[in-house]
Amino acid sequence: MTDTVTDQLVAANKRYAAGFTDPGMDARPVRKVAIVACMDARLDLHAALGLALGDCHTIRNAGGVVTDDVIRSLTISQRKLGTNAVVLIHHTGCGLLGMTEDFRHELELEVGQKPNWAIESFKDLDQDVRQSMARVRTSPFLPHTEDVRGFVFDVTTGLLTEVDPEDTPAP
Ligand SMILES: [Zn+2]
Repeated sequence: MTDTVTDQLVAANKRYAAGFTDPGMDARPVRKVAIVACMDARLDLHAALGLALGDCHTIRNAGGVVTDDVIRSLTISQRKLGTNAVVLIHHTGCGLLGMTEDFRHELELEVGQKPNWAIESFKDLDQDVRQSMARVRTSPFLPHTEDVRGFVFDVTTGLLTEVDPEDTPAP
């Protein structure tokens, strides 16, 4: 029987643990920052941002969308674990770019029920980052909303470009 991918991961973990020493950290991120990013496999947050183990919270989903559950994580991050800055990262070539809410309808036709979540697809990357920043800034649950910045990561160059929250979308 061949190894499944999960078997390979478990084997890799045994090697990892063999060389691991307890860093002696508690759960509070050293650099007091929470990063909300897309789940995209090409985005290595720690490498791309110069982060080390223990530095930050990373909250990821399809699109890096600020959903209610992301607000839940950020609320715990800020109120219980001491973070006070939020970085939002979307990226070029995102799977959600150009999808539409029609996907919910397709699902409904196939399985007989509509999901109770929005697809949160988008057509304009910068505008989507702006919307995400606005959702974080206006959340009543978050005590720290003055240091919220949003970026687009270019998967071909590895470079981040900051999105100006004040810009208005191109018509
Ligand atoms: Zn993506």
